[in-house]
Amino acid sequence: MTSIVETPAEVGSGGPGGGAPGRHVKVAIIGTGFSGLGMAIKLRQQGSDDFLLFERADEVGGTWRDNTYPGCACDVMALLYSYSFAPRAEWKTTFAKRDEVLDYLRWCTDRYGIRPFIRFGHELLEARWDERTRRWHLRTDQGEYTAQVLVTGTGYLSDPAIPDIKGLSTFQGALFHSAGWDHDFDLNGKRVAVIGTGASAIQFVPAIQPKVGHLDLYQRTPPWVGPKPDKKVAPSHIWVRKHVPGYQRFRRNFNKNGREIVAFLMADPKRASQSIQGMAAKHLQKSVKDPGLRAKLTPDYAVGCKRLLFSNTWYPAIQSPNVDVVTTGIREVRPNGIVDVDGVERPVDAIILGTGFRATSRPIAERLHGRNGVRLADAWGDGMAGYRGTTIAGFPNLFMLLGPNTTLGHSSQTVMIEAQLAYVVDALRQMDKRGLASVEVRPQAQEQYNELVAQLQHGTVWNAGGCSSWYVDANGRNSSIWPTFTWRFRRLTKKFDLESYQVAVTTGDGVPAGRAG
Ligand code: NAP
Repeated sequence: MTSIVETPAEVGSGGPGGGAPGRHVKVAIIGTGFSGLGMAIKLRQQGSDDFLLFERADEVGGTWRDNTYPGCACDVMALLYSYSFAPRAEWKTTFAKRDEVLDYLRWCTDRYGIRPFIRFGHELLEARWDERTRRWHLRTDQGEYTAQVLVTGTGYLSDPAIPDIKGLSTFQGALFHSAGWDHDFDLNGKRVAVIGTGASAIQFVPAIQPKVGHLDLYQRTPPWVGPKPDKKVAPSHIWVRKHVPGYQRFRRNFNKNGREIVAFLMADPKRASQSIQGMAAKHLQKSVKDPGLRAKLTPDYAVGCKRLLFSNTWYPAIQSPNVDVVTTGIREVRPNGIVDVDGVERPVDAIILGTGFRATSRPIAERLHGRNGVRLADAWGDGMAGYRGTTIAGFPNLFMLLGPNTTLGHSSQTVMIEAQLAYVVDALRQMDKRGLASVEVRPQAQEQYNELVAQLQHGTVWNAGGCSSWYVDANGRNSSIWPTFTWRFRRLTKKFDLESYQVAVTTGDGVPAGRAG
């Protein structure tokens, strides 16, 4: 770890130009998951120490810190689901378990000396753009700060979606979401209901099924599930990763480029059905012999429309004698159980919600106020929209990592994050070089960009796949998915395209940016 122990916030000058003493930084980063930490590492690599990260929890890790459910793991190969600039040879299995991913993020935090820059236990309550000072004013539950640039790294899987099911709040047993697992509740021998069959449920159901007395699995829509080619990494392989120059990078790029073929297949539902879907259908056919159950578990939409899942343990677990797959919808929850739409009541001791996250109505949008005090949630009244996934018209000097249309259905989210980091670093470099107080994407550039995304999305599994998914917002627009090859996004974000931005060289008071901080 480096010996950096002071940041401008502690030094007391308030950074160049000052703000409230000790409370101004050039860059404020919200969140310490893959995005926020990645941003901080890039800033350190550029030689900057004029930044702070605000983290509401008391440890780094984002979704990998918060999700502690049994069986939690990553379904993207570890060599790719990590930063390309911080390779780690010691991954124990092809696909890392949650603890290993979290450990990796902690390792990166210390290796790059990021920890002293983190304000743990600081929740961002509100950020307001001040046109006069051309700064962001941040109100946290531990005090106020100002920053020239605000980078949000709050992801899209940070706040659980609690389903609006009649009577849910009247339930008297244990009730928790997969992202807020109640480890104090002893599942041994209990009757448990699980609602949802997404990426989280297919991991925790096989992990808890052997323990519970009985499990009712409430499935609204079946997922396509493929086999997971996971295996232990032999010590000799770790040795090769460590000692053969270029090997890790080659394997990572091989996996990354191979996954681009999936993007090509998913660009057309027919093509996806004839290829990847066949692999998943075969896995189902091989794993589930009962034709009645198999019919229940067969999706009626193109693979990829909802996230394609991978598991070798899902089908065996849900065919166990202590599991019932309930495909009749839920009518209501009563104090001691769940009643389906046919009126059948199934008593349970616990309900576990595997019902996903608020991905298209992001809580952070309720806390950001741009020019003229406009709240991002209001600006996004018709759905999330941004430019190159990162900037938003009306919100100067705001960079949103994993912003609109940056979710991937075919590759590693870290690839998108790294592309965005390159864009932000170049933006900061250009702002410095040209002495800019602010940059704000032109509305027309944003509009044209969103037309491009809509064109790219048109006819793909993500908007013509015949399903409803969390990628699609309340207005029916898929504002989540990046619908094509990642190299196209990387190309778009390689350089900050200043010509698409309105810029200001002074603060609203006419003070040159260089002197205003
Ligand atoms: P999800 O994929 O959104 O799945 C939510 C599940 O809950 C769906 O089966 C959904 O059914 C069901 N559901 C929601 N509301 C319901 C209601 N009112 N009644 C009945 N069922 C309801 O959520 P998730 O499993 O937590 O996964 C979210 C995302 O996290 C994933 O897509 C992925 O990006 C990420 N993740 C990744 C990994 C990894 O290995 N990399 C692991 C876990 C999660 P419908 O399908 O009918 O809506």
